[in-house]
Amino acid sequence: MQTRGVHAARAANQTSAISPPIYQTTTFSAGSAEEFAEIAVAARPPEFYTRYGNPNHEMVEATLASMEGGEAALVTSSGMAAIFAVMLGNLRQGDHIVAQRNHYAGATTLLKDYLPRWGITATLVDQTDSEAFAAAIRPETRLIYVETPVNPLMQITDLRAIVELARHQNIITVCDNTFATPVNQRPLELGIDAVIHSATKYIGGHHDATAGALVGSRELVERVWRFALVAGATLSPFDAWLLLRGLRTLGLRVERHNHNALALASFLETHPRVARVYYPGLPSHPQHHLARSQMEGFTGMLSVELAGGYSAAESLISSLHLATRAASLGGFETLIVHPASMWSLQLSPEQRQSTGINEGLVRISVGLEDAADILDDFDQALRAARS
Ligand SMILES: *Cc1c(COP(=O)(O)O)cnc(C)c1O
Repeated sequence: MQTRGVHAARAANQTSAISPPIYQTTTFSAGSAEEFAEIAVAARPPEFYTRYGNPNHEMVEATLASMEGGEAALVTSSGMAAIFAVMLGNLRQGDHIVAQRNHYAGATTLLKDYLPRWGITATLVDQTDSEAFAAAIRPETRLIYVETPVNPLMQITDLRAIVELARHQNIITVCDNTFATPVNQRPLELGIDAVIHSATKYIGGHHDATAGALVGSRELVERVWRFALVAGATLSPFDAWLLLRGLRTLGLRVERHNHNALALASFLETHPRVARVYYPGLPSHPQHHLARSQMEGFTGMLSVELAGGYSAAESLISSLHLATRAASLGGFETLIVHPASMWSLQLSPEQRQSTGINEGLVRISVGLEDAADILDDFDQALRAARS
């Protein structure tokens, strides 16, 4: 994985520069009128007009396709743009989606509030119950959308079961692989049709670029590209350049995230002020065996429910010195959020309760610091916390 991250862009780098230039240009010259006419109608030209593509996009796409094991990839201006484009690029009025009750909040809003306005409906099911996906499929179902491990409670979707369900039916399967990254999980190898990423997270890895990505067959990616083109979901060349830099260390970073998160999860699990730890790498996770069967590592994301409810969560968050209070995840430094407050607009109190996002829950994106320092920080903050 590290070798792919370092070398897979090589063929797409048309220069001798080891670190490729940033093609900070909106347009490209053609050699002749004939050549211009040809490029203008080509599928995915990297040098025509940057909304169509750019050499910096091409290098990231080659690397991501290699790491995920897909034929082709597309980078977009954000993770939400990738989700929007994969849905709108593949679906039409009357089509039906089966998705999960728990998703990244933006995806849930798209599925519940916007797609129905255009005649595309979704049935949301418990992702831990493969039978529920099967039961929700209708003749007009065209897409199954999953996210595993899911934000923020780290439930797992059985990817092999989803592939089996869609087999021999005209159903596209899409997996949000943001939390796992291709280092820990490669859904395409299990038969999923398309993977999407918020590349803002682990792929960029440095909290400095907002971006998204899609990986799948050449045909599917080209179809979605055609929609992304009219949606204007274009990534800036500089942000693509940052993603390529992130990909070069993705393997190394994710190994460290995995290691630190397991250390923190194990420490918190035995702490008297902690009621429950949600981390698929712990044997106590109800789907630990399933996680092991489709993942190679368990990511840097975990959630913790404090025994003292909201006041304990609030007090822990305010008492941390190293971990930073900030949205987002997957970057170099440890971040912590209080999901019930962060999603109070998107999720009603009943929805939060029914999805298990209660007042004592905190979500931690474990960073790349030395594990001992992260553990010390949580230890002192839990001591300081009111119980
Ligand atoms: C952040 C995130 C998204 C949305 O990505 P943006 O880059 O913020 O648009 C989608 N899915 C998951 C799992 C995420 O964490």
